[in-house]
Amino acid sequence: MIWRTPESSPPAPHALPVNAAALNNHLISDSQGRPADDPIFALNAEATRRAKAGESIVNATLGALMDDDGRLATMPVVFEALAAVPPERGAAYAPIAGEPRFLAAVIKDLYGEGPLAAQSVAVATPGGTGALHNSVVNFLAPGDALLTPSYYWGPYRTIAQHTGRRVETFLMFDGHGAFNVSGFAKALEGQLERQSRALILLNTPCNNPTGYSLDDRDWAGLASALRGAAGRTPIALCMDLAYARFGAAPFNHWVRHIQPLIGEILLLVAWTASKSYAQYGARVGALVATHSSADERDHIKSALSFSCRGTWSNCNHLGMLAITELLENPDLRARADTERQRLRSLLDERVAAFNRAAAKAGLVYPRYEGGFFVTVFTPDAEGTAERMKALGVYVVPMDGAVRVALCSTPLRDVPRVVEALVAGLAAVVS
Ligand code: PLP
Repeated sequence: MIWRTPESSPPAPHALPVNAAALNNHLISDSQGRPADDPIFALNAEATRRAKAGESIVNATLGALMDDDGRLATMPVVFEALAAVPPERGAAYAPIAGEPRFLAAVIKDLYGEGPLAAQSVAVATPGGTGALHNSVVNFLAPGDALLTPSYYWGPYRTIAQHTGRRVETFLMFDGHGAFNVSGFAKALEGQLERQSRALILLNTPCNNPTGYSLDDRDWAGLASALRGAAGRTPIALCMDLAYARFGAAPFNHWVRHIQPLIGEILLLVAWTASKSYAQYGARVGALVATHSSADERDHIKSALSFSCRGTWSNCNHLGMLAITELLENPDLRARADTERQRLRSLLDERVAAFNRAAAKAGLVYPRYEGGFFVTVFTPDAEGTAERMKALGVYVVPMDGAVRVALCSTPLRDVPRVVEALVAGLAAVVS
C-alpha cells in the first residue's frame, strides 16, 4: 500500500509561493558563475577569426600537433586499425573496467614484463583526463588538496573543484632553473601535517605548460623526498604521461627511480592515446595503479571500476580495441612507431629552431628538449600576450609566463614567434 503522512503531502498548487527569480535559478550555488569554455579556446577562436579575415596570424595557443600546412597531424596506421575492428565488437559496450587485453597491453607498454607489471592493476578511462579524475576522487578525500608544481595543466583545478577537492602548488623551479625538489619536499611535509593522505600530480616529460622534463638528477631528488615522507600517511604519486612519447629521454626512464618505493607509496599512471597516437577525440586512456600488496590492488581495482561505472559507465570500445592491436601486433606497433617518429621530427625541428632563436634573443625559459609547449617567463603575462597579439602572434598568458604551443606553430613561423616574444617583453623590461 502506498500512503502519505499529512506532513509529506504536497501543498495544493495554488498554495505554492511565487518567486520568479528562484524559479529561474536551477543551478546549485556551486555550479553558478562557472565559465563555459576554457580561456584558451576563446583565444584560439579570436586568432582563427582574424586569420579568416585575411590577416597574417600565428596561432600558438592550441595543444594539438599540426603539420606545417596547419592541418592536424595524424597517423594513418591508427585509422587502419580502427577500420579493422569487427563492427559487432567495436559497436558493443566495453566492459566497465575496460577490455582486459587493452589493460594488459597498457601495463606492458609502461613496464614491459618487469616486476612492476605484476604489481599493477588498471582501468580504462576517457583519455588521461579520466585517469586524473579517477585519481582525484579515489585517493583524496573531499576538501583535501592535490599537490602539483606551480605550472600545471588548468583542468587539474577544474577536476579538483568539480569534485570538491582543491589544488596546492609549490614553486616549480629553483633559482637555477632546475626542478625545485626542496620546495616539493617542504610542500609535501606541510600537506602531511594537514591532511590524512597526499596525491601528487606530476606531468613530465614535456610538462604542459613549461616544456620541462625532469632529468635523472631531478628524479633522484624527488625519490629521496618521497622516501623521506613515506610511511606516515598514504602517499600516491600520479604520473601524468600525456606527452611521454615526445620526450628526449626514453619513455620510461623515470621508472627506475620510483621502483624501489613501490609499497611505500602508491604509483599511479595516467596513460593516454591522445597524443601518442594523435587520436585526441577517441578518448582512449587508462589509469594504472601499482602497489606491492595484492589485497590493496584488489581494493583499488574495485574502487576504480566503481568510479568508472558512476562517471562514464564504460569507454570507447572501438578505440580501445584498435589501440590494443597497435600496442600488441608487432607489425602495427612498428608502423605506429615509424609514423610517430615522423610527428616527433616535425616537432623536434621546431623545438631546435626555437631554442636557437630564443637563446640568441636572450629569452628566459626552462630547459626545453621536446614537447608540445614551452613557457617564456615574463612579469606581465597579460601585457606581453596583448602586445604579441598586436603583432599577429597568439600565445597563452599565465601566472608569470606566456605559453607557446610549438605543436601548432609551423617551422617557418618560429622566428616570428621569437621576435614577437622579444617585442612583447621589451615593454616589460624597459
Ligand atoms: N595532462 C596534460 C598535461 C594535458 O595537457 C592533457 C591534454 O591536453 C591531458 C593530461 C589529457 O589529455 P587526454 O584526456 O586527451 O588524454
